[in-house]
Amino acid sequence: MRMLARRFLVVAVLATITVVAVRLSAETADPDMGARIINADAEPGNWLSHGRTYSEQRFSPLSQINAETVKDLKLGWHYDFETNRGMEATPLVIDGVLYTTGSWSRVYAFDAKSGDLLWEYDPQVPPEKAVHACCDVVNRGVAAWNGKIYVGSLDGRLIALDASTGTEVWSVATLDASEPYTITGAPRVVKGKVLIGNGGGELGVRGYVTAYDAETGAQAWRFYTVPGNPADGFESEALAKAAETWKGEWWAVGGGGTVWDSMAYDPELDLLYIGVGNGSPWNQAIRSPGGGDNLFLSSIVAVRPDTGDYVWHFQTTPGETWDYTATQHMILADMEIQGKTRKVIMQAPNNGCFYTLDRETGAFISGNNFVQVNWATGLDENGRPIENPEARYDKTGKPFFTFPSALGGHNWHPMAYSPDTNLVYIPAQEIPFLYAPVKEFKKKEGRWNNGADMALAAFPDAATTRKQLKSMTKGHLAAWDPVAQKEVWRAQYAAPSNGGVLATAGDLVFQGLANGQVRAYHSATGEQLWSFEAQTGVIAAPITYAVDGEQYLAVMAGWGGAAPLALPSALQDENAMPNVSRLLVFKVGGDDSLPPLDWEPIAWTEPPAQFAEAGTVAQGKQRYFEYCSVCHGDAAMSSGFLPDLRRSGTLSDPEFWQDIVLGGVLTDNGMVAFDAYMTAQDAEAVRAYIVDRAQLAYKDIQTGLAQ
Ligand code: CA
Repeated sequence: MRMLARRFLVVAVLATITVVAVRLSAETADPDMGARIINADAEPGNWLSHGRTYSEQRFSPLSQINAETVKDLKLGWHYDFETNRGMEATPLVIDGVLYTTGSWSRVYAFDAKSGDLLWEYDPQVPPEKAVHACCDVVNRGVAAWNGKIYVGSLDGRLIALDASTGTEVWSVATLDASEPYTITGAPRVVKGKVLIGNGGGELGVRGYVTAYDAETGAQAWRFYTVPGNPADGFESEALAKAAETWKGEWWAVGGGGTVWDSMAYDPELDLLYIGVGNGSPWNQAIRSPGGGDNLFLSSIVAVRPDTGDYVWHFQTTPGETWDYTATQHMILADMEIQGKTRKVIMQAPNNGCFYTLDRETGAFISGNNFVQVNWATGLDENGRPIENPEARYDKTGKPFFTFPSALGGHNWHPMAYSPDTNLVYIPAQEIPFLYAPVKEFKKKEGRWNNGADMALAAFPDAATTRKQLKSMTKGHLAAWDPVAQKEVWRAQYAAPSNGGVLATAGDLVFQGLANGQVRAYHSATGEQLWSFEAQTGVIAAPITYAVDGEQYLAVMAGWGGAAPLALPSALQDENAMPNVSRLLVFKVGGDDSLPPLDWEPIAWTEPPAQFAEAGTVAQGKQRYFEYCSVCHGDAAMSSGFLPDLRRSGTLSDPEFWQDIVLGGVLTDNGMVAFDAYMTAQDAEAVRAYIVDRAQLAYKDIQTGLAQ
């Protein structure tokens, strides 16, 4: 009955939309993109905004590719990019043109039917900016508005391009260049304003989102997510109130709360929703000694899109201390709950709990953990977590082995919602992490400042513990009922950090995997109906579009992002696959194919002999986890897109090693000089630690213990 009513409603709405669309095209040759996005279901062949619609459901009404025809889905065309860094973008498709971004914030426009490259744009991000990117030099896509394409560059510019030529129309600096902010998220455009946030919560910044005029680039408003120094005065009433939930001198260490990914918009309620990140530093005892909720960290905040005025918030993790961001994908939907149609907003943030909220008021409707959670024992009637006191390593001073990790039960990888099944498809992951406080905290400008002892948290020193960690570290696709708050079906994977999700009216759910497959499942049952070997890990979300009556499926392939950089020891088998950055486009009966994979893993040779005392190796480990591990991995191994330091020729060349680590001779590759932070003796100790790692790995290879 409910389904019938909904279908009837869709027909009625479609009829209205057709009228609106006709009227618009009669009035102007360039209809307002806002009206087009609001009426996106009237032109399902296009993918006009990051989540297709402002509701960010990532559900397509197209059904030519469906549970019956998907078996004949073949590669239609593909494009291999020059870089081999992570690909996270969701492409847009507008009137036959596909717009996407690659690593280093580069923008590409393709003929969506033929695959011809129409133009490309390189914002020339300085390579040394890579050191401020916690999670790879990735970009999650563009926004479009009335003939312009918008991209946020890693170094903090918001750039408007001419959609037909790729030439720059305007560019504004959204960040204070002296602070270690970055941009990796896709802009959104609402009511003629381009919205963009930023990242940097691991390095000690204060988060905000800014709105710019889509035509001119003039700043319209800025919403700070955490209060600044009270002595400077608060920017708004809301921040004055928020400051009552903070203690100590949080502004001196940053505060955090960056808005680095998700937004959604409800045109009817005229509310813009922003997802706010973790505290900076993570460790609350350092950030806000004595506790407090620390608003608006780890919250969904609703603001007015015209002014940035605060309307409501819901905080998922009060007093955040585990890097539990609420920047994860948010989905708006209307659904029947206890006999009433409710306007909900849904999120599955880092902390491992799924939330269904009333999006008009922010009131908690229901929630439950969707992955293993041990930092809390449940949610109370207001959705506030009931904490496990032992999990507060910042208070107890003792390490706590926590599920989920800082990488979250779900990270940025977009979920999808199907109104046909009323299920949310979550690219979930199970990764534990040992949180332990640092003994002493001193903010290091421009470097990691999370207040957690990363060296203690690392497991890579014995083959057994490495194997144990790996066996606990998994991923899965969960089909989640947001009303009953329970899992309906699951596809289990050996590795975490799998791709984002697309749901379609063809009863399908599409997802790319860390293991290099792109798969289709039946949306109701989870039955696997199709797969394709992409020859490289996939983390981005697929989209679907149509040109000339033919439906296509597109996905950016290419392994990268936070998890493979920081946690290679627990991910896909080392060197099981190369990293290829490519765009794959499929259609029923497509006739393209990938070239055979011309690749072999680099052979191991015997590493140099250890030259240092055990104490020096230990010191090197400490320095490695302070400065190096976030890019070079917890075990100094590679996940396919940065050099494997254990097999680096420079290990046996102490002079060249110093030139790189302290002299910055590889700055053009993104490896900046660390001479402001490390002495020559520190750098040599790091070399000793990596020699130790290389010997352990080489021994594992010889004895067959290796991954
Ligand atoms: Ca974070």
